[in-house]
Amino acid sequence: MEQNDRPFIIAGPCSVESREQLLTVSEALCRMPRVRMIRGGVWKPRTRPGGFEGLGEPALRWMKEISDSSLRMADGGPVRFCCEVARPEHVALCQQYGIQTVWLGARTTSNPFMVEELCEALRGSAMQVMVKNPVSPDVRLWLGAIERLQHAGLDNLVAIHRGFNMYDNHGYRNLPLWEVAMELRHQLPTLPILCDPSHIGGDNTLVEQLAKTALQLDYDGLMVEVHPSPALALTDAAQQLTPDELLGLTARLFPQRAADSGQPAASISEITLLRQKIDSVDHDLLQLLRQRMQCSHQIATLKHKAGMTVYQPERWAEMVDDRLHQAHSLGLDTAFVRDLLEKIHGESLRVQMEDRG
Ligand code: PEP
Ligand code: MN
Repeated sequence: MEQNDRPFIIAGPCSVESREQLLTVSEALCRMPRVRMIRGGVWKPRTRPGGFEGLGEPALRWMKEISDSSLRMADGGPVRFCCEVARPEHVALCQQYGIQTVWLGARTTSNPFMVEELCEALRGSAMQVMVKNPVSPDVRLWLGAIERLQHAGLDNLVAIHRGFNMYDNHGYRNLPLWEVAMELRHQLPTLPILCDPSHIGGDNTLVEQLAKTALQLDYDGLMVEVHPSPALALTDAAQQLTPDELLGLTARLFPQRAADSGQPAASISEITLLRQKIDSVDHDLLQLLRQRMQCSHQIATLKHKAGMTVYQPERWAEMVDDRLHQAHSLGLDTAFVRDLLEKIHGESLRVQMEDRG
């Protein structure tokens, strides 16, 4: 995965279901230039018992057969497959069948014991390992799994953001919580990160919007579930796209660049000017925040002298009401402004309490 490769796509079925299904989907995906690798679930972690648990070794045998065949990916290389591993035996089998990229699923990343066992199985190998986010929005667990792999000498790592399971997922299968992935990127700025809009959305109608958001956030690529007949899929039927749907999606996600289509390129100088303006507005905002915090320090002393508590609920309720009215008339998102006010007010309370000692 080189820099000029991005954004790229990993696509393929949630689960490998038959030799024919894998071959059909591989032939279609190999014609798509953005597709760099084909995914296929071999062992499926099922939340509840009784479902299809994957075909295991035969699926790997078909992957090897296709990789060894004359079929080529769009870049001319042999077909590259990846799959999820959850047990040390899975790693050994992948190595036996020439799989060079594997991933840790969300349930595995959530469990440091399982991650440790996989690290031991992977130690010393040159495999590429992709790490899905844990089921809950705990960036430390995600980081922890990545660090454990790094300590085991694996240096070809990739993060996959597949959303988080909350009590209320607001219509998504897994709530995106983009800010959690942003925090991981902040901590590990050079680690490539993919978005898995299929498992975030849980529904094929949600994939496009999620993929667009990820690309706007400068993700390195996407992992998308693609099945020749999604309605008949043994796992995750609602969220898989057909190969044709993926083709349409990539055409909309990556329209020909203006320069290639003979149209004038977007003006770089206009972007620079707007960036300068954004910088200057941000600097003004910080100066204003400083003035606001100075008021907090002064008022802390006065409240103390007057025998008043730091937090004054009525004043806070009035302020919120006033600012939200203003936000509304300025056309600002009131939920965003409320969050911002809560942060600022929280910091003001902290400063005032610190002053009181
Ligand atoms: C999958 O990729 O099919 C899968 C089970 O993913 P996750 O670990 O994100 O649930
Ligand atoms: Mn799936």
